[in-house]
Amino acid sequence: MTQSRAGTTESATESATGSATESATDSAMESAWGELVATARRTVADGLVVGTSGNVSVRVGDTVLVTPSGVPYDRLTPGDATGVDLAGRRVLGTLVPTSELPMHLAVYRADPGARAVVHTHAVHATAVSLLVDELPPVHYMTAALGGPVRVARYAAYGTDELARAMLDALADRTGCLLRNHGTVTYGTSLDQAYDRTAQLEWMCRLWLTASSVPGHSPSLLTPDQLAEVAERLRGYGQHG
Ligand code: 13P
Ligand code: ZN
Repeated sequence: MTQSRAGTTESATESATGSATESATDSAMESAWGELVATARRTVADGLVVGTSGNVSVRVGDTVLVTPSGVPYDRLTPGDATGVDLAGRRVLGTLVPTSELPMHLAVYRADPGARAVVHTHAVHATAVSLLVDELPPVHYMTAALGGPVRVARYAAYGTDELARAMLDALADRTGCLLRNHGTVTYGTSLDQAYDRTAQLEWMCRLWLTASSVPGHSPSLLTPDQLAEVAERLRGYGQHG
């Protein structure tokens, strides 16, 4: 798994340093690819997608590793690593990258802190995308995604138009729904991006469950309550 590299005449020292750097890059790519495949398999195992639906990417330097289009995740091997640069040119592997490359690259171009993107067709989240323009803030985890999660306007899968609609819906958020399609979340790691998808799907399920009780409508959190939680979440978990 070696990235294509412009050939130049190098001195012995330069070439030794160069190959050390190259193998460090190679091993970073190898471990990132392993984590990407594990995350993609998890989306199927956890019921967030069926078959080859959805896609996952992770950024390593200026290379974006992506799931190949239409390949079942349990068949992916280390030799299938697929990578593109930020302009979408293939720099690693021979398989066709995910059809949702425009969405993944749009996230990395818009937020230099983004390191991983997860797209799924999670059923409750997709159901919510058919019903409202924004997921009502029924739970404090809304704050973990930056605020009430918006639904991006519909566009056909794999298009630049869908990537633009997604970016609009993602303003100040780390996740959104795609109308009649699914979810997109991103984060500083694959684990964080994946966890945000799982939380989003769970909140959509919560809202659908509560709002299906006849004669009742769910109570919602106020912007002040969400702001308080956003502050508290900064100190959540283990420290040091
Ligand atoms: P790919 O198999 O091309 O990644 O497409 C799946 C998908 O979810 C398209 O929106
Ligand atoms: Zn999709």
